Amino acid sequence: MKNSSDILKTDIHCHLEACFRHQTLIEIGDRVGLPVPADVDTFKRDYLVADQKENLAEMIAGFDRVRALWFDREAITRLTKEAVEDAAAQNVRLIELRYSPDFIQNGRNISFEAIHGAILDGINSANADIAVGLIGIIRRTLPLAEAQKVADFITANADSFVGIDLADQELDYPGREFAQLFRKAKARGLGLTIHAGEISVEESRINVRDAIEQMAADRIGHGLHIINDPDLIQLVIDNDITLELCPTSNLLTGSIPAIEDHPFRKLMDAGVKTTINTDDPSLFAIDWNSEYALAKDSLGLTPADIDQCIENAKAASFVNGETITKAWSA
Ligand SMILES: [Zn+2]
Repeated sequence: MKNSSDILKTDIHCHLEACFRHQTLIEIGDRVGLPVPADVDTFKRDYLVADQKENLAEMIAGFDRVRALWFDREAITRLTKEAVEDAAAQNVRLIELRYSPDFIQNGRNISFEAIHGAILDGINSANADIAVGLIGIIRRTLPLAEAQKVADFITANADSFVGIDLADQELDYPGREFAQLFRKAKARGLGLTIHAGEISVEESRINVRDAIEQMAADRIGHGLHIINDPDLIQLVIDNDITLELCPTSNLLTGSIPAIEDHPFRKLMDAGVKTTINTDDPSLFAIDWNSEYALAKDSLGLTPADIDQCIENAKAASFVNGETITKAWSA
């Protein structure tokens, strides 16, 4: 049986802002007021989400702490280049990185154009055989007018983004009101993925239904909690929706009580198209090899199941098929 490090892997749900080398944090952290941890334990306690959190909000707070690293063009380019090279070094051949322009901007005097340009520089300067796609994120907590600005930016740059996403706290922030922004983006050729169904409550399942019926999503970020709703499972299958499952993330955000409770296998058995993804690798102290190993060891996926997930990701990717094929044969 192949070791997870030898498998040519995919990741179509990975937040760029949650990719950072520990060494890079040590090197540039003090320039932006992030205390440099004295030892590994302090680093884990202060910067990583390595223990199960009560809810998604706590995890998002962890995200906020590392945002300061993305402070200027040079840092953004470096962090992006390292993220791409780290994925490629673990035999990831297709990665879709997503980021939120206004989250990185954080009210500072750096334009969306400068941020995006620095990210593209990072991707282009990476020395790696890997197909990379960029997804722009709209945060559902933004007022509609702000979300509109971000959506306009992503749509205007449809030649360098492959898709658009709706992310952040899904409770109390239904996606419906953003439907029109997403329709416009889709008309410009961008793929649509929506974070929904991440939490085990009815509102979260409604978000999945809305994403499909009102926003014409191509993929759902997480979506695991459709598992107890046969009608919703059918809707996902009928609309050929691929789920971007992120098992460690679901455990650490408290979406599932224990890894054994992850419905990954059940969703596959029900006929849902599933994929294996990291979500926030550095923040969770995981990587691609460890997440694929977890799929085999803790979720009960066979080598054939894992192959199927990789094929699902390639088929559902917003990156064009030719680029993916080229990366695969490199
Ligand atoms: Zn996510």
